[in-house]
Amino acid sequence: MAKLSKDDIITFLNTNYSEMLSLMMEANTHRHDDKITYSKNVFLPLTEICRNQCGYCTFRKGPESFDTTILMETTEVKHILKMADAYGCHEALFTFGEGADEFYEVKCALENQGFESMVEYLYSLCSETLINTNLLPHSNPGILKKKELKFLKEVNASMGLMLENSSPRLMQTAIHSKSPGKEPKLRVKTIENAGKLKIPFTTGLLIGIGETLEERAESLIELRKLHNKYGHIQEIIIQNFKPKPGIPLEHQEEPSLTEMIKMITVTRLLFPDVGVQIPPNLNKVNVSMFLLAGVDDLGGVSPLTKDYVNPEAPWPELDYLRSVTEELGFELLERLPVYPKFINDEFLSERILDKISSM
Ligand code: SF4
Repeated sequence: MAKLSKDDIITFLNTNYSEMLSLMMEANTHRHDDKITYSKNVFLPLTEICRNQCGYCTFRKGPESFDTTILMETTEVKHILKMADAYGCHEALFTFGEGADEFYEVKCALENQGFESMVEYLYSLCSETLINTNLLPHSNPGILKKKELKFLKEVNASMGLMLENSSPRLMQTAIHSKSPGKEPKLRVKTIENAGKLKIPFTTGLLIGIGETLEERAESLIELRKLHNKYGHIQEIIIQNFKPKPGIPLEHQEEPSLTEMIKMITVTRLLFPDVGVQIPPNLNKVNVSMFLLAGVDDLGGVSPLTKDYVNPEAPWPELDYLRSVTEELGFELLERLPVYPKFINDEFLSERILDKISSM
């Protein structure tokens, strides 16, 4: 188990080119094999309503906008799942706004379909996925109570929640001042409860949202502590902030390539036992550099749906990702939304294990 102090991490994040190169070499010694994985998924954004208003978000829309998806109907979700099955996808990614059922419009739409809450609706759709397709659900519904996580574990192969950053200071900035759900304590609590319930979990950091190097180091240490205690984190996403027209942070610079390489390398060193992922659609030209820095997973890539959170960034073709990985001597392989070491009855429900056996 990696033991790096906060000071070690800050030193790494401040290091020069020669130390950086030797750290990248060391990070690569932690690879278990030459495989780079990805998950063939379909993205199901059940609602664009969200109680938060993050300074970098272009996904969320208010209920008053004429083109807002208040709630995707069951028939529409079933239709997309059917197409995803035909495309050979194996992950149904349910990602949507947090606390949407606090809004009257969503509550009414749920009631029209016979549900009282988003969690109840999500459970039903995950169950439908398991019964009628060859896909496994992976849900990112935002912060949840422990009993809600327990309920959803039965029908999810894994779940996810970005920590983004553990610093409460960011709650006072334009990034998160209107986002009660981004309170780090609440997010840590959800990740911790998922650990107590043994739910294979995806989390990660958002880099370049005004955080300091010290806050990046503290965030990594926080995740390491959670994983030391519960052993449930399957992958850590190191996601770079991207400025977009119209957002409050439109003019903020994105993190430099060097900053990203350092973050990936230090994450690989601190988490030799966890997948390190970058979103390939946000980093198409830098994928090779990030693989060299220690990335071993390229996350979800969809042949069918766009990345609704970053719609301006299309998924790279699998052929492109294959050629980039093979150029470096790696092998690109599809994986399920749950990593192999978590496929057992300690981490998965009987329904999920049965589904995996049948696939
Ligand atoms: S980034 Fe996520 S949590 Fe924040 S406003 Fe957008 S949808 Fe909501």
